[in-house]
Order: sequence, then C-alpha cells, then structure tokens
Amino acid sequence: MARPIVAIVGRPNVGKSSLFNLISKKQIAVIHDQPGVTRDRLYADVNWMDECFTIADTGGLEMAPEDRLIDSVKLQVEVALNEAAIILFVVDAMTGMMPQDLEIANALRQSEKSVFVVVNKVDNERLRTGSGELYALGFDNLFFISCTHNEGLSSILDEVVAALPKVEVEADDSASSKAIKIAIVGRPNVGKSSLINRILGEERMIVDERPGTTHDAVNISFMHNHIPFELIDTAGMRRKTAIDDKLEQSTVQRAIRSIRQSDISWLVVDADREIARQDKTIASYIARQGKACILAINKWDLIEKDNSTYNEFVESIYAQLSQLSYVPLLFVSAITGRRVTNLLDLSLDIHSEYCTEVPTHELNDLLMRLKNEHEPPRSGKIRPTLKYITQIKTRPPTFLIFARHPNKIPDHYEAYLINGIRKTFGFNGTPLRIYYRSTNAKSG
Ligand code: GDP
Repeated sequence: MARPIVAIVGRPNVGKSSLFNLISKKQIAVIHDQPGVTRDRLYADVNWMDECFTIADTGGLEMAPEDRLIDSVKLQVEVALNEAAIILFVVDAMTGMMPQDLEIANALRQSEKSVFVVVNKVDNERLRTGSGELYALGFDNLFFISCTHNEGLSSILDEVVAALPKVEVEADDSASSKAIKIAIVGRPNVGKSSLINRILGEERMIVDERPGTTHDAVNISFMHNHIPFELIDTAGMRRKTAIDDKLEQSTVQRAIRSIRQSDISWLVVDADREIARQDKTIASYIARQGKACILAINKWDLIEKDNSTYNEFVESIYAQLSQLSYVPLLFVSAITGRRVTNLLDLSLDIHSEYCTEVPTHELNDLLMRLKNEHEPPRSGKIRPTLKYITQIKTRPPTFLIFARHPNKIPDHYEAYLINGIRKTFGFNGTPLRIYYRSTNAKSG
C-alpha cells in the first residue's frame, strides 16, 4: 500500500524547508531526492507513533529559476491537492497574513483535503497572541510552532497521524458498544437541549445517565424501537447554567469531541437564523471524520411558510453546507415535537447504511459498468486503469481500488465513482471513502 502523502505548501520564506527538515530528521528514514521524476521535490518517509506517511516538500518547486514566484506557489498547491492526503499550509507569524496566503487558502478551501495551518516563527508569546488574524484564512486547525526553537512539532505530528486515512479492516465492535451513538451538535441556542428533553420525554424510556469519556461529559442511553441509542456528551444540555453560554471556540471544541465518539452526528441549525461560520466548521469536521450525519433544521414552527419555503430552505442549506451534500435533512421542532421521532427512525436507517458491506462481485459489476460509461481521463500520455474494487471497511464504508497510475485519477472521476456507488447501493447520510493500491510494476 502506498503511504499517504502529507504535503507542505506555503509562500516563499515562511519556513517550509525548515519544517520538512525537522519532521524528516525526527525519523529514521533517509530523505531521498527523486531526480528525474519529481526533480524539485523532496520526499521523506516518516514513522510517528507506529503510523507511516510520506512528507513532501512541494516548496522545492520554488527553486525553478524560470518560474515567477506566484506561479511556483500555484504549482505547489496543485501538486499537493493532487497527491496529498493531508496538507500542511505554512504561514509566517512574523510577517502576518499576506495576500498570497489568502490565495493559497482559497485554493485549498475548494478541495476536500484536510488542511492544517502551521503558523511558524512563533518564537515568543507576543507573536502567538498576534496571530489571531490567521483564523481568517478559514481553517479551524491552527498549530503554532517555531522551527528555530524546535517547538510545537509533536502536536502537529500527533494530529497528522490521527487524521491519516485508515485502511485496515477494523475489528468487530464488542457488544457493549452496539448502541447507536449520536452526537447532537450545533451552535448555542439552536435547541439541542430542547431536542434531548423532547426525545427523553416522548420516549418515556428508562434513561441511564452516566459519565462519558472525558471528565465533564455525560452520556444518555435509552431504547427506541428496541434498539439501544446513546446520546454522547450531553453535559450541560439538560440542566442549563449560565456558564453554558459558552464561547464560540469551546462550542466547536466540545462538538468535535463528541463527534469523534459518535456514529451519527445531528447537526442542529436554527431555521430562524442564518447559517454561520461555526455551522460550517462543524460540518467540515463531521465530513472529515467520516461520520454519518443528519441535518436537523430546528424551530421550523417559527417559520412562516408558503409553497416555495421548503425548497428554498433545502437549496440554501445545501449550498452553504456543501461538505454535507450526502446528508439528509429534516425540518423539526423541539417545541411542538414535530418530526423529532423521525430523527431517531432516520438514524436507524442511516446507521445500517453506515455499517453496510457490499459483496465484492456486486462492486466489480458496478465498476465495470462505470468504466464502460466513462473511462478515467488521460493525464498526458498516461491513462489510469481501474482493475478491481473491494470494500475494506465499514463506518464509514471504505473501498479499495486496484489501479494502474491511481495518482493520475482526478477528483472529478473519483466523485463519479462515488456517485455511482451511491446510486446503486444507497448509503444515505454516510460518507464514502476510496483508497487506491497501485498495480504498476513500480509503486506509484
Ligand atoms: P441549545 O443551546 O442548543 O441547547 O438550545 P436550547 O435548547 O437551550 O434552546 C434555546 C432556545 O430556543 C430556548 O429558548 C428554547 O425554548 C428555544 N427553542 C428550542 N427549540 C425550539 C423550537 O423548535 N421552536 C421554538 N419556537 N423555539 C425553540
């Protein structure tokens, strides 16, 4: 299996090579230049916490003397977007945000890749506090480091290996974790607590409240249609205190923690308010974590409706939360109770899709059909060829395709494959992942 690639990008002089050298030096592996193939790039194999990846310094492209700098940066980003699983986007705390950083950020944001913003040259506390403007780049993962002082590297590497695509087949869950785990997330005051109380009230079930995995978390277990459910980290939701009027940051952090532990996230938004940046941040996180999801549009009772209201809402919400295009949407009201039970019923359906395993022969019949309709496009003289597909994992459903020149398969073709899989097998509300294994004589 080819190692996933983690690419470093950024404008000149922000410290890309320093970062690359530090990360690769931490490792046993030799940095190997690949003359001829990718003349200007450097690669190093990295092993951190028993996880392997290849770090790529696309910044090597700056060296091409005939390039104007702006073009070389574009090229870096393009290369990174093509081949990397994760992108480390380096910016400079000393100079602050520059127009070129914004250009890079715009290009990166248009992709589905995980992007970590690495704020380098944070040599002192003043520089760290001065770096708040960098959140304007639009990414929620910011790391503050100093390559000169060799500070902050480990936390980046920890997060990188946590976010690497996983391809091993997971062991079956033990009986104790069979409950469908639901994270109810969203901004303050969208009605999360009201939803929980409504569900617990309606179900008249025996509620088992117990501590969650972090010290201040509380999980609630109950049965619905004889199926065990567990609401993750409901602390502070049922019994509100003034302290619960949390800051924006901690709302997102709390959401992230509970999403991680869940199978399905209900992203609750308020029908009576605009979609906000925080909603988008949480939506991206759900998608990146490969979690199933339902969009719960709450307070639907407050909306004056005519014939077009429903369609307008649907269209506008999907346009703004485009990360969650695979997710179904329910208009609910915690106050009147409308469609609240549907949330649970739909979660049951989605959970079963999240855990579905498609037989290999059915997948290969589909792959054949999709290839016949559209071959992967040529890239220069090379045409990638798809040979065989198999599902290697559920939760989320993950597929492995054996292919020649898989790194030449463009994103739009992968989207076509994913669409084909969805049309044939459903997978409502569930993200799908595709990984590739190269069948070239030499890996690549
Ligand atoms: P949380 O911060 O997301 O847990 O939000 P709460 O559940 O505390 O709700 C915030 C406010 O919105 C409260 O005043 C609720 O009574 C109100 N609310 C919640 N759900 C609904 C709903 O479906 N319709 C209406 N009209 N108000 C609601």
